[in-house]
Amino acid sequence: MKVLVTGGAGYIGSVAVDTLIASGYDVVVFDNLYMGHRSAINPAATFVHADLKDADVVLATMEEHRPEAIMHFASYSLVGESMTAPEKYLGENVSNALNLIDAAVKCGVQRFILSSTAALFGDPEKVPISESERLAPGNPYGESKFFIERMLHWYNKTHGLKFAALRYFNAAGGTDEKGEDHQPESHLIPLIIQVALGQRDEIKIFGDDYDTPDGTCIRDYIHVTDLASAHVLALEALADNDVLHYNLGNGSGFSVKQVIDTVREVTGHPVPATTVARRAGDPAILIADSQKIKSELGWDPKFPDVLDVVSTAWEWHKRHPEGYGD
Ligand code: UDP
Repeated sequence: MKVLVTGGAGYIGSVAVDTLIASGYDVVVFDNLYMGHRSAINPAATFVHADLKDADVVLATMEEHRPEAIMHFASYSLVGESMTAPEKYLGENVSNALNLIDAAVKCGVQRFILSSTAALFGDPEKVPISESERLAPGNPYGESKFFIERMLHWYNKTHGLKFAALRYFNAAGGTDEKGEDHQPESHLIPLIIQVALGQRDEIKIFGDDYDTPDGTCIRDYIHVTDLASAHVLALEALADNDVLHYNLGNGSGFSVKQVIDTVREVTGHPVPATTVARRAGDPAILIADSQKIKSELGWDPKFPDVLDVVSTAWEWHKRHPEGYGD
């Protein structure tokens, strides 16, 4: 089967591409290299260097390559940025997805997998968060993914496009070849690792007055290869299912301070930290209940322990102190 992967040069997308290729799929990567890295693209994939905002190019790519399925990773994905530049999220994220979904149905694509997010749930009423939790995004990033999930709902009703919406909690960790390299970096684990590598003086904790045991935000860190394996399972499950929604996490939460302590333990570096103001748009606690995908599709995360997740990130960053370098 041929799968078109948008954002296949990015952090999660590039690992999903590796997993697809290892599982025998043909892959076309569609990426504008805005955040992604050319050297992160698996050489066995066909690469189309283009932008989702060009609807004509998206359609022409689809007509040329005729994928049977799409995995859509490419999007702006920063909660903090979405609170200062909502137009990138409510505008481009949404209109780019529409270009892609519309071209998909015009070319007879049968299956669509969306990178969705825990940010759909805002400040949830019940933790851990199951798929039945109410959807109430607390920032424009989450709202953009909510719109795209609704778009897919209607393209399923009107055109029969089958889809899976995979709500990631906090992607983390690395593989032998792939790791997290954003320019500029804004994610917690790679930033703490930059301190341990001597590239940054300290880590800033965004608020310690949340309603959590140590006052800092709690997140559920899920290994990037476990996210990738969930994508392949969902892709296969769409053979017999119309619509799937799954929350993807390890089911255990770690505070910002606990993550800093974990990096200290893994690296042996003291990692100085100071507390600053809260980052707008951050909910206090996000922890996944992933029983649904485990029982329905047999998803079996290989990195349930945050120490192992952080260790794989540290190994990659030690080998690539300047990231991908492109
Ligand atoms: N965070 C922090 N300092 C940083 C970066 C992040 O305290 O320099 C916190 C952030 O407020 C959130 C958690 O770490 O509570 C995870 O943030 P990240 O940006 O990695 O992922 P997000 O939860 O936004 O998807």
